[in-house]
Amino acid sequence: MAAVCVFCASSTTLDERWLELARKVGVELAAAGHSLVSGGGRVGMMGTVAGGARSADGHTLGVIPESMVGLELADSSADELVVTDGMAARKSVMIARSDAFLVLPGGLGTLDELFEVWTTAALGLHTKPVVLLDVDGYYTGLLDWLAGLVPPGFVRASAMASLTVVATVAEALDALERCRTRMV
Ligand code: AMP
Repeated sequence: MAAVCVFCASSTTLDERWLELARKVGVELAAAGHSLVSGGGRVGMMGTVAGGARSADGHTLGVIPESMVGLELADSSADELVVTDGMAARKSVMIARSDAFLVLPGGLGTLDELFEVWTTAALGLHTKPVVLLDVDGYYTGLLDWLAGLVPPGFVRASAMASLTVVATVAEALDALERCRTRMV
């Protein structure tokens, strides 16, 4: 069983389809025997993915900074809730407590988290897999732009290759499974 950290949107104004995606991810991670590491709030996709995991009897660890306990509605239903003294500590705990990272659609916070785990993987500072769920081309603009930075030498091709990009939840689960097999 792997501890999978899911980074995703905290926005409360999203179309129901995005919440449904988060719920499905939570359910399927738990059904596959993975535990969930999340941002520890009940808002947006972040809260929904944790609820989905618990609805399928999955174990959830939430990590939330003290300053966000009220703003992001600390997930008091989490099996374990870690309250950190800042945003940087939150990210560090989430990363340390996870075996793999799955990034769903999100906003600036999600992008910060994606780049944190992706750049450190590309630098060889960790070997935990980073999987990006590019549903309906959500991230295509970003990925195309970054791929365009490879020929002039700003981004290494190996860094692009260190990110596993998938289009469906089933492919994300497969990718996590393949990585887990490689890890053991
Ligand atoms: P967003 O994708 O903007 O909805 O944010 C997703 C999550 O990332 C939210 O829980 C934010 O609190 C969190 N977040 C935003 N910036 C940071 C940061 N610098 N470090 C850690 N978490 C962050």
